[in-house]
Amino acid sequence: MRDETTYMPEWAPEHAGSEFASHVMVGLTDEPPATKKPPAKASPIPAKFKRMKAKDYVEGVLNGNRMLLARAITLVESNAPQHFELAQEIVQQILPYTGNARRIGITGVPGAGKSTFIEALGCYLCRQGSKVAVLAVDPSSSVTHGSILGDKTRMENLTREKNAFIRPSPSGGTLGGVTRKSRETLLLCEAAGYDTILVETVGVGQGETTVRSMVDFFLVIVLTGAGDDLQGIKKGIIELADAILVNKADNDNKQRALATRAEYEQILHYLRPATEGWQTKAYTCSSLTGEGIDDIWQVILSFEQLMKSTHRLESRRQQQTMIWVKQMAEEYLHNLVEQNPKIMQCYTSVQDQIMQDQISATRAAQTLIRAIETELQNMKSRPV
Ligand code: GDP
Repeated sequence: MRDETTYMPEWAPEHAGSEFASHVMVGLTDEPPATKKPPAKASPIPAKFKRMKAKDYVEGVLNGNRMLLARAITLVESNAPQHFELAQEIVQQILPYTGNARRIGITGVPGAGKSTFIEALGCYLCRQGSKVAVLAVDPSSSVTHGSILGDKTRMENLTREKNAFIRPSPSGGTLGGVTRKSRETLLLCEAAGYDTILVETVGVGQGETTVRSMVDFFLVIVLTGAGDDLQGIKKGIIELADAILVNKADNDNKQRALATRAEYEQILHYLRPATEGWQTKAYTCSSLTGEGIDDIWQVILSFEQLMKSTHRLESRRQQQTMIWVKQMAEEYLHNLVEQNPKIMQCYTSVQDQIMQDQISATRAAQTLIRAIETELQNMKSRPV
């Protein structure tokens, strides 16, 4: 008898809803219906994982245990305070084993062919013996629950590779929250031995700046027809790129793709390169036929060689980490102020006075700063 049942994937966050569930057809069985087991329910973290300590996770991650890696990522993504502490302990302990992977960001408008390209590149690398992790960063995922970028079924061939690990975007929370979770997930994957981390994001919002700040090499995938209006891609995104890749250079589209490449080359000529000492160029490829995949990989390898030989890889990563630390501190302060009723009361009061021309801007700022200082003194220190 056939039945459909629901399983929670290993990467689903705790308390995840049905949007994370896989619907699986149970195979035919000879068992009579009376003895058939009830369908498995979507369960939260099993009891055995609840008893696990940081060192157990660390050991599992370092041994490349995919299930424990997925669980550790779930902890990093959890918003529960007790998970936060455990996750931080794990991240702290795996730090010495991180930093060995190539970190590559990939963006492009929906339909540009990001997932097809990632699948083609991922399979190409796995065939060469690489271990590839694919992460997605979708700041809008609090609304979409990661479904735009996080859908595993989009990369079916890659999911079958034993050396590939695919993780959808963490859902929920602020951009800062998504950034922290994605960065720490990247570190966990590095510690688990993945030598190439592909971080995908949609090129329509803040995601690409976030991803640019966590990767070494940033690739912007575009469609043919650059001249029209840069296809909704803002000049700002092109300025972040270490390479532009005109995808779908196959069949009837090949000539147009080559023309688009030439147009981008012209545009790039007038832009400041994203990485000092590296000339951003445009390339073509077909993720369907595989043509050009090896060429773009060689470009990424030469970039890496240049960055390493000039010691800029290390300093870029250190700078990225410091910017991240600053952003986390700023977000904490921002929330502290915005969530404090007394400070917000003072803010409303000075706003009214400004509206009525009763107070100068400097005096208003002083009053607000004093209110903040007083409240800070009254507050106990809180974890970030
Ligand atoms: P994404 O939204 O950027 O992830 O785009 P997808 O990877 O889902 O691709 C969008 C559509 O373009 C799909 O129908 C793909 O089959 C198609 N596509 C992607 N890459 C290529 C390519 O290199 N050549 C052709 N002809 N089609 C492609």
